Amino acid sequence: MYKNYLWATNRMKYVKKKHKQAPGCLFCNIAKDDPETPKKVLWKDKDMMVIMNIFPYNVGHLEVVPIKHVVWPEELTVQEYQKMWEIVRRTVLLLKKALNAPAFNVGLNIGGDLAGGSILHLHVQIVPRYVRDSGFMEVTAGTKVMPQSIDETFKNLKKHVSVLKG
Ligand SMILES: [Zn+2]
Repeated sequence: MYKNYLWATNRMKYVKKKHKQAPGCLFCNIAKDDPETPKKVLWKDKDMMVIMNIFPYNVGHLEVVPIKHVVWPEELTVQEYQKMWEIVRRTVLLLKKALNAPAFNVGLNIGGDLAGGSILHLHVQIVPRYVRDSGFMEVTAGTKVMPQSIDETFKNLKKHVSVLKG
């Protein structure tokens, strides 16, 4: 989306991590807590997990991911599919509370590359939008300024995680 991301802190740590990824499906690796896979799991139960995108489009970019590896929505049971969207509903509420986000983009890229998604494993992206999203840097330099580090944001979201439990 943007060519570069400018972080207030911790930037180099994440740039380095980008080149280290275990083989296999990223989300399956996260779900089974693979030690080689960098991850920020906000919440997880037997069916679903809510994770931070560690290369976010914006502060607080989260993903709701079914634990089982499916590519297509119809591979989930109706109950699982409904649960996924219920967790999306709660995740939006969490982001409103934790980050005061006033607006959101919520969506699916189904079927991989052709749909603009880099990971086949079904997931719902939740990207908070803020009033100052399109600032000077984005327009002039192809650079997105991230005002909070991943770790700071994660800590902040963790405080409100009870919202996800309904
Ligand atoms: Zn998977």
